[in-house]
Amino acid sequence: MPTMQVSVLRGIGQVDIEERPTPEPAADEVLVEVGSVGVCGSDVHYYEHGRIGPYVVDTPLVLGHEAGGVVTSVGAAVTHLQVGQRVSIEPGVPCRHCPQCLTGRYNLCPDVRFFATPPYDGAFSQFVAMPASFVFPVPDSMSDDAAGLIEPLSVGVWACQRGGVSPGTSVLVTGAGPVGLIAAQTARAYGADTVTVTDVNKHRLHLAERLGLATFDVAQTSLVDAGIEADVLLECSGNARATWDAVSTMARAGRVVLVGMGGDTVQLPLSYVQDRELTITGAFRYANTWPTAIRLAASGRVDLDAMVTGHYGLHNVEAALTASRDDPQSMKAIVRPGE
Ligand SMILES: [Zn+2]
Ligand SMILES: [Zn+2]
Repeated sequence: MPTMQVSVLRGIGQVDIEERPTPEPAADEVLVEVGSVGVCGSDVHYYEHGRIGPYVVDTPLVLGHEAGGVVTSVGAAVTHLQVGQRVSIEPGVPCRHCPQCLTGRYNLCPDVRFFATPPYDGAFSQFVAMPASFVFPVPDSMSDDAAGLIEPLSVGVWACQRGGVSPGTSVLVTGAGPVGLIAAQTARAYGADTVTVTDVNKHRLHLAERLGLATFDVAQTSLVDAGIEADVLLECSGNARATWDAVSTMARAGRVVLVGMGGDTVQLPLSYVQDRELTITGAFRYANTWPTAIRLAASGRVDLDAMVTGHYGLHNVEAALTASRDDPQSMKAIVRPGE
């Protein structure tokens, strides 16, 4: 039986290489040789804490859910993908039967099997088998890294849709990490008139400037004094203070989308929310975003490769997971399981 190498998280701060049988794709699945996997904040959180809320790593878990690669084998019932096709993987497979799935909000399916969320393994692995409906062709002009980063781009697309970003709107993005900078570029592509990104990290703000985005350094001046009145807030920092300040500056009838994961509770300036009739919503993953996200990246309207600050082989997953903690210039670490 052919085998492959995977990187497993055994417990807090402990990753190892394991040899496992290479999966056989079922009739409706394809086997993908994984080229690039982006490291996400959730992977780092599992590595550092062994859990995210109710999801506890109690058996070895393969991390990684932002994956691109190439199809190497195709199940008998698959007609739209061929061996050799380069692809991006949508990493959650919903049940496809519950009321949420049937209305198209499959991101809210209670029975979704999502990569790198216990007990389901992710993509820090040489191969993954995946239902073909969740595997999307990408053009050859797109890098493997960008094919993987279609996942966080999908988060940005979903956030813009939740917030009703449309031509002429002004958008404030709090937090210039990978999701914030991708969401900001997406908002611009959706026709936003002005997009301003805030952070306290000057490296991240410089990258935002290089991407042509307006920036505001909240380490220097309080956002409350910036004179920004946004129609839409894409909150990507997960920071309580940033959230409070940003909500306090919203325009009337503004829309707040909470994307970042911060503490369990956050305080909100209720008088503003009431007086200005702000709408506040969460954004959980995404639904039906891959085709849009692939087009946004392929056309160059969203630059995903600019996010990448380091590549790591499967034997260096630990360094990939600690890169953002150890280096303030690190944005997006990429694991390349074939190296
Ligand atoms: Zn992610
Ligand atoms: Zn469902």
